[in-house]
Amino acid sequence: MNLALEHKERLNKTTKLMNENGVSSLLITPGPNLRYLTGYKAKNLERLTCLVLQKDELPTIIVPKLEKIAAIDSGVDELGIEIITWEETEFSFSKIKKNNDKGPVAVDSNMNASKLLDFQKYFDNREFVDARIIMDSIRSVKSKYEIDQLSIAGKYIDAVHMQIPEIFEIGDTERMLARKIANLITETGHESVDFTIVATGKNSASPHHDPGETLIVNGDILVIDIGGTTASGYCSDSTRTYVVGNCQPEFQEKYEILKQAQELSIVSVKENISAEKLDLVARNYLSSHDLGEYFIHRTGHGIGMETHEEPYIVQGNAEMLVDGNAFSIEPGFYIEGKYGARIEDIVIKNDSQTINCNNSTKELVFI
Ligand code: ZN
Ligand code: ZN
Repeated sequence: MNLALEHKERLNKTTKLMNENGVSSLLITPGPNLRYLTGYKAKNLERLTCLVLQKDELPTIIVPKLEKIAAIDSGVDELGIEIITWEETEFSFSKIKKNNDKGPVAVDSNMNASKLLDFQKYFDNREFVDARIIMDSIRSVKSKYEIDQLSIAGKYIDAVHMQIPEIFEIGDTERMLARKIANLITETGHESVDFTIVATGKNSASPHHDPGETLIVNGDILVIDIGGTTASGYCSDSTRTYVVGNCQPEFQEKYEILKQAQELSIVSVKENISAEKLDLVARNYLSSHDLGEYFIHRTGHGIGMETHEEPYIVQGNAEMLVDGNAFSIEPGFYIEGKYGARIEDIVIKNDSQTINCNNSTKELVFI
């Protein structure tokens, strides 16, 4: 796989979309968009680093002189992007050539507010728009390379879930188990850990519970939602529900319904369906089994170089899902004071054959 070709393709699509949207200048500062477009994992410093794409101008990247070697090492210049450095005593913005076109300036949505204010001063009298109008539509449709990377990330996180019964020990608190899981996330191939949600007993009713000192005891329901980022920059995210020892049959019945709701949603991905219609699949199923009121979040979110990105599988998003969209399907139920459960897979819409990046068992795992 030639990654430079992949990046060139992304840059070409960006230029095309800038033209289609009448955007004159696009400013991308360090973060997922810069890495997506160029492969450059730049530090988000107070010093200015900025990829500048402009109508009728060659692409440039402005970097502090001390970051020049890092920029070259990332291969940005091989993409036809000129590296322009600025010294500590220079006014960095003066290195940006303002084009004559007076059209809108699109700015990276992750740009620091202080830099945005400086840019607004520098590009005086120009309209500023959010670069999401361009970046979201490109990033939400994954290439073959990206599909492979997300599948690899999925395998890595599956391997972690599969080892949880082995690493769990009676006497573990949520935090102790979360630490062991974090170690496994990097050992299984991820470069970094993004999050480890370990929620036991009543805490399992809180979808984003922060692991604390609660002891994991017999009879607990344990919701484990974990994710990391691979060296290529792609994220994993998968939730499984565990039972310590044994649980009541009423929980098992509810869990079975949740599993059916999740699987039904995945089957629906292959249809010609909008994000909000897909959200309704699990919601309606859970409602028809008296669990609707306990499903308190959207069905899913897109994933790629960020854990949460477009498309969001949520009420109000009427966008049709298209091939190459990668997103989570993660219905759950959360009964305050009792317990909760969630099942989460990352899937990729791909013609009639939806790709499921996560393949560890969805049955309740008794540990
Ligand atoms: Zn998720
Ligand atoms: Zn998750």
